[in-house]
Amino acid sequence: MRVKDIQQVFHRELDGLYEAKEVDRFYFMLLEHYFDIRRIDLISEPDRVISKEDETVVFKALSELKLEKPIQYIVGEAYFYGLSFKVNSNTLIPRPETEELVDWIVKDKRAENRPVKILDIGTGSGCIAIALAKNIPCSKVAAMDVSAEALKMAKDNARQHNVDIDFIEADVLELEDLSGCYDVIVSNPPYVRDLEKKEMHDNVLRYEPHSALFVSDAEPLLFYKKIAVLAREHLCVNGALYFEINQYLPDETIKMLENTGFEHNRLKKDFRGNYRMVKSSVHGC
Ligand code: GLN
Repeated sequence: MRVKDIQQVFHRELDGLYEAKEVDRFYFMLLEHYFDIRRIDLISEPDRVISKEDETVVFKALSELKLEKPIQYIVGEAYFYGLSFKVNSNTLIPRPETEELVDWIVKDKRAENRPVKILDIGTGSGCIAIALAKNIPCSKVAAMDVSAEALKMAKDNARQHNVDIDFIEADVLELEDLSGCYDVIVSNPPYVRDLEKKEMHDNVLRYEPHSALFVSDAEPLLFYKKIAVLAREHLCVNGALYFEINQYLPDETIKMLENTGFEHNRLKKDFRGNYRMVKSSVHGC
């Protein structure tokens, strides 16, 4: 089949479900990904023919798009902070607002020319931990997750990016204590309340790991409280705790942090204008 005919099939099957521009983006991404054909070649050689076997691969992906499976899960890859990460249904697809959290830490720490000890709690694909390890020259990074499957992916990603991260399989809610002290403790824990589920797209609800997203309406700060208590004891003197937060709970989050002994708390909005992250310290830094 000619590639231009494949593109037409994409539009016939997906227009209506996605915007036409998005459909073209999927078409280019999938053909580039599976067959290593550059976008420019697809455009300049519309009569180029792909084999029957290759067609099957593309049409399988097309049928998954029809079911609104995120393209990142179809190709098994997502981009975050300029790096490529393997992802699957055990790991969240990294979000652009999380890149902003990473950027905050990188800008705070990259100029330090002494070892920066970092702990990422709930690492998922490892994107935060790995992006920090790649961008903070003297970093020494540990990353924790409760899911063995997610850690497998994170380890793969760390290997691919050639960074040495100490991975820990543990449920932070069950942890009595941490060992050592850290300059940075960072976490993007589950924070979407059940009552906010209706705001979420079907592709998130159907395909992304609920354990990484949702918390009960009754105790939305469950993870934050536990992590703050541990961090209070395990941050170095000038250390800071960085959280991605629920946009509807900035005041509650700050209040909890103050009650846990974090006197200096700075909120930041994301590019959408929502309160999305906080930096907390005991002594101010
Ligand atoms: N920002 C993510 C979303 O809205 C949620 C991430 C999280 O719960 N930590 O899909």
